[in-house]
Amino acid sequence: MINRANSFKEFYFKGVSSKNWKDYRWHLQNLIRDLDEVSSYLKIDPDDYSKLVKNKNKLNISITPHFLSLIDPGNMEDPLRKQCVPSPLEFSLKNGSRDPLGEKSKMPVKGVIHKYPDRALFLVTNFCPLYCRHCFRRDNWYKKEVRTQQELQAMVDYVKKDPAIKEVIISGGDPLFLEDEFIDNLLGELRKIPTIEIIRIASRVLSVLPQRITKKLVSILKKYSPIWFVTHFNHPDEISRETILATEKLLSSKVIMVNQTVLLKGINDENWIIEKLFRELLKIGIKPYYLFQCDPAKGTGHFRTPLSKGLKIMEYLHGRVTGLAQPIFAVDTEGGGKIPISPNYIISQKKDSFLLRNFEGKTFEYECEPSEKKKD
Ligand SMILES: *Cc1c(COP(=O)(O)O)cnc(C)c1O
Repeated sequence: MINRANSFKEFYFKGVSSKNWKDYRWHLQNLIRDLDEVSSYLKIDPDDYSKLVKNKNKLNISITPHFLSLIDPGNMEDPLRKQCVPSPLEFSLKNGSRDPLGEKSKMPVKGVIHKYPDRALFLVTNFCPLYCRHCFRRDNWYKKEVRTQQELQAMVDYVKKDPAIKEVIISGGDPLFLEDEFIDNLLGELRKIPTIEIIRIASRVLSVLPQRITKKLVSILKKYSPIWFVTHFNHPDEISRETILATEKLLSSKVIMVNQTVLLKGINDENWIIEKLFRELLKIGIKPYYLFQCDPAKGTGHFRTPLSKGLKIMEYLHGRVTGLAQPIFAVDTEGGGKIPISPNYIISQKKDSFLLRNFEGKTFEYECEPSEKKKD
């Protein structure tokens, strides 16, 4: 298992006591928030630096000391570095949208995105301790908000009134950076609604600040179990010793974990990286759920791969890697939700049978049910 946090912690944060290092509040008080601070830890290409400085007011940076400590300072191509250190390529705004998923038009009340009949997504805050450079909600970074009690009540009332809504997804921003009491209250309110069957939390803490998974937080989550927890890992280097400890705590509190990965050019767009990531996640009890095409948000074009790349990775995984490691590969559309994209295993339909292919490219005739046989 990768465990670079120890050695790199010594490198970057030598004087920090292990008590502080284990305390997520210390990390939140010591977030790396500007370019000069970043460059005091990591070498930045001088050309990039001057381009970035020119656009300083448009940059929004936040990196946790934990995540920084997983970056190899000598590697300009480090896959974690690229996820949190801005690149001047972000200013090439030719392509992309500020609201690539058309979320602003799907908000019946402030803070609720309602696209699918049975699911509502709650945006409880815009704050994240780490701003992913590929974020599709990057336009939200500029107006930092946490939902007020009143707003939250309106959101809860909205899902209470629509019995077709069976699931609430608590997202943001990163919802786990709200106070324990806020989380406890919200979960309590949702559990009181008989029509809400599933509560899902979407958070990147296991990657960017696993120290947030405290005993207290875990005891709160346990009260409302089962909680579905959607994690966000893009590269195996993100799985630190602290991540493993945090997932053990969550598992023992009946929290069920699945992962979303964004396919990112130059970061994880290779078969072996995705395979390694998914195998490492399964080893610690997290099931790969989605592999996403990087959404066309403005300023993220340099991360986007051709769709065929994702298809090739899916093709590679199928049959060669455990079925537990097969995510859904999907694109998210403007206003239309997610659309799964899959390699095609049906070659053709004949009169009485389908011609199918397997992972090795061997073909098989598979007889149709009478009802689906083609007529002459
Ligand atoms: C992704 C998303 C969901 C959840 O979709 P699943 O396929 O169930 O994971 C729900 N609502 C919105 C607005 C979403 O973007």
